[in-house]
Amino acid sequence: MPLNMFWDQKIETLDRAALERLQLQRLQDTVQRVAARVPFYQQKFAELGVKPDDIRSLANLRRLPFTTSADLRANYPAGMLAVSLDDTLRLHTSSGTTGKPKALFFSRQDVDNAAELCARSFVMTGVTKKDVFQNMMTYGMFTGALVTHYGAEKVGCLVIPAGPGNSERQVMLMQDFRTTFIHLTPSYGLYLATFLEKHGVEPRRDLALRKAFVGAEAYTEETRRKIEEGLGVDVYNSYGLSEMNGPGIAFECEQKHGMHIWEDHFLIEIIDPQTGDPVADGQPGELVMTSLCREAMPLLRYRTRDITSIMLEPCACDRTHRRLNRITGRSDDMLIVRGVNIYPQQIERVLMAQSGVGRNYLIALEGLDEMTVKVELAEAGFDGQVEHLMKLQSHLAEKLRAEILIKPQVELLPPGSLPVSEGKAKRVVDNRKM
Ligand code: ADP
Ligand code: ZN
Repeated sequence: MPLNMFWDQKIETLDRAALERLQLQRLQDTVQRVAARVPFYQQKFAELGVKPDDIRSLANLRRLPFTTSADLRANYPAGMLAVSLDDTLRLHTSSGTTGKPKALFFSRQDVDNAAELCARSFVMTGVTKKDVFQNMMTYGMFTGALVTHYGAEKVGCLVIPAGPGNSERQVMLMQDFRTTFIHLTPSYGLYLATFLEKHGVEPRRDLALRKAFVGAEAYTEETRRKIEEGLGVDVYNSYGLSEMNGPGIAFECEQKHGMHIWEDHFLIEIIDPQTGDPVADGQPGELVMTSLCREAMPLLRYRTRDITSIMLEPCACDRTHRRLNRITGRSDDMLIVRGVNIYPQQIERVLMAQSGVGRNYLIALEGLDEMTVKVELAEAGFDGQVEHLMKLQSHLAEKLRAEILIKPQVELLPPGSLPVSEGKAKRVVDNRKM
């Protein structure tokens, strides 16, 4: 492995014993700070009868309280701050769905750490200061764009803050400034691939694009492959959440096989979302994270609701920070249709593996408990023969039944007929009257 694939080789390859010592020291420091300064944690500690000095090993983590997104909302706007407002530098919010957003404060050190972790994440795929970064995430209150923006600047890349959408302009920018890597959502990635195809842009011939960091929403290996083919790039899965800095928490290295989570900054647990107990090693469950370096708003045992598992075997890249498997969805993403538990990802996997099917889809729940999967046909996928359409339709319905155990209606639509979202895609519309 060439040395320039590391941003901070010492910390990225620190042996596990030293890494765990560092984690314990940072955990103890974090617990001391929140116990001294955050009324929410003072109250929780009192309820649980736990004192900062009780945390003598990493295993003692389980004595600490969970923090949930409801706790953040209840303490909106500034109830979770562990520093004075004068010492905060930046405010982000998390998109949220309804009601008040979650307010997330960053100190100067927090802003710098977030950029540092993004720099590590980019460099481990081979990014250097010679690269040109076109950021297609939404700028604004979200962490998604700004945090990676600062990370790429730290590496020394030329950064083009394009934001999402306006694909014609994206292509112009990519051509004029020889963009080599981009950061975008899987839904926009699929859309952009269709756009290039439609406009006769052959990415490997017409663009300098090499890599795409794709994240902010769950997607499948099939979608990764579609984006790789459509954009002529390597796609690296990129995970983050605003409560823990935003992007740069866990990204894939050049192996493209599982996301290294930066364990010098975050302590991770995988729990059973129902019981809160840890699952067996390597088993799927909800990711719970404790921040180890955040100054302005440290969070203990934060319930991400994201379902994943820890990879047990070490990575060929020599990094000692463990890898997370692809996030398969959120624990609250699960649909229950006719008594069956279904994750939207299962449906996506079937659709994206099917030739003739395009890149945009929507799951509509209607009536008393009916599911319709609406999916666009591929640009070049339809020869005008109705019987071919009907065959594809019933084939898809069968494939879906094998995967999700109920047989949905399948509706095939002309390319471009479903709404396109610039930020996170809305894949499920639930209008059931139950
Ligand atoms: P919100 O919770 O309002 O969507 P964020 O913008 O912080 O706020 O989004 C973080 C969430 O996005 C994560 O908790 C996770 O559910 C999802 N996410 C981010 N990256 C990925 C990824 N690579 N794979 C799957 N889901 C992801
Ligand atoms: Zn690796």
